[in-house]
Amino acid sequence: MISTALTKLLGIRVPVVQGGMQWVGLPALVAAVSNAGGLGILTALTQPSPEALRQAIRETRKLTNNNFGVNITLLPTINPPDYEGYARAAVEENVRIFETAGNSPGKLIKFFKSQGCIVLHKCTTIRHAKSAARMGVDIISIDGLECAGHPGEDDMGGLVLLARAAQELNIPYIASGGIADGRGLAAALAFGACGVNMACFLILCIDSPIHQNIKDKIVAGTELDTIHIFRTLRNTSRVYRNKVAEEVVRLENRPGGAKFEDLRELVSGARGRLAYETGDSDAGIWTAGVAMGLITDIPSCQELIDRIEKDAERIIDGLARMKLPDDRDATKA
Ligand code: NAD
Repeated sequence: MISTALTKLLGIRVPVVQGGMQWVGLPALVAAVSNAGGLGILTALTQPSPEALRQAIRETRKLTNNNFGVNITLLPTINPPDYEGYARAAVEENVRIFETAGNSPGKLIKFFKSQGCIVLHKCTTIRHAKSAARMGVDIISIDGLECAGHPGEDDMGGLVLLARAAQELNIPYIASGGIADGRGLAAALAFGACGVNMACFLILCIDSPIHQNIKDKIVAGTELDTIHIFRTLRNTSRVYRNKVAEEVVRLENRPGGAKFEDLRELVSGARGRLAYETGDSDAGIWTAGVAMGLITDIPSCQELIDRIEKDAERIIDGLARMKLPDDRDATKA
């Protein structure tokens, strides 16, 4: 067993957190991750209203006795959501673990902490991580450039971000972006992280409610099959490289660029949702990270999390026994 600050704080068995994924963080997947020993996370904004989120929380409770959380992401949206209503509904339903992400989360973090909740906050820079720590979050999720969705605008890969987190943070942090196997978990622990956040692999597990065609696309995809959209709007998002995403980037790069209004119809979440539901991978924009290149099969959540745990333990054990060349030289001398 790999026991860390994360497993202790969240009351989970394996230090793996499922990232909040728009249109995918639904009760069946959340419960499957939590039943497998990780932390499943319901995505609040996937539900059409705070009342619907209440129902999703109740449904998840019927499927698992283990802890799970709720994600609330604060980024530009076409229809501004009632963030505070979602937060209140989840707290009233006795959810005690929240993942926050995006801009200006202070008010929500303050509310969750006043209710005795545990807050994980996603950060793509060390300055944001330090500011979130000052606001009282319990765990930082360090998102490297490899991640699906919004990596921020600094283009900093996970290796350096995690090493910087080790230098600068005095609260627990987990690694997010590019992690899909036991190597990733072992490496994250070596960087001083207390666990990992995963999305890309969990999205295609047998228990995940998305269409089989999209799961097959992810298995067939490589690390080269993602693209950044919204770079010119400073709302960069890593998504699956399909016809719609390529058209968005073409419009952004044309002389004079593009305003959000020029892209709205192409990028709307409602269209992206159709891809997951109908299996038409060109129906709209859907997110994917470069971890896609590491994925070669479609296991259940239980099989995946067991595999990651065992592989990480084997690697950590191997490293502990490793005789480094320098050690050998020292022994000879
Ligand atoms: P949406 O239909 O409102 O917007 C589609 C995309 O356009 C999103 O990426 C959004 O950030 C972007 N966008 C909207 N208005 C914009 C503007 N004025 N300027 C620049 N970009 C703009 O999004 P949705 O699919 O209904 O999702 C709701 C929110 O959740 C979005 O902010 C989205 O980015 C975010 N999200 C959350 C997760 C998660 O894991 N919780 C994952 C992906 C996206």
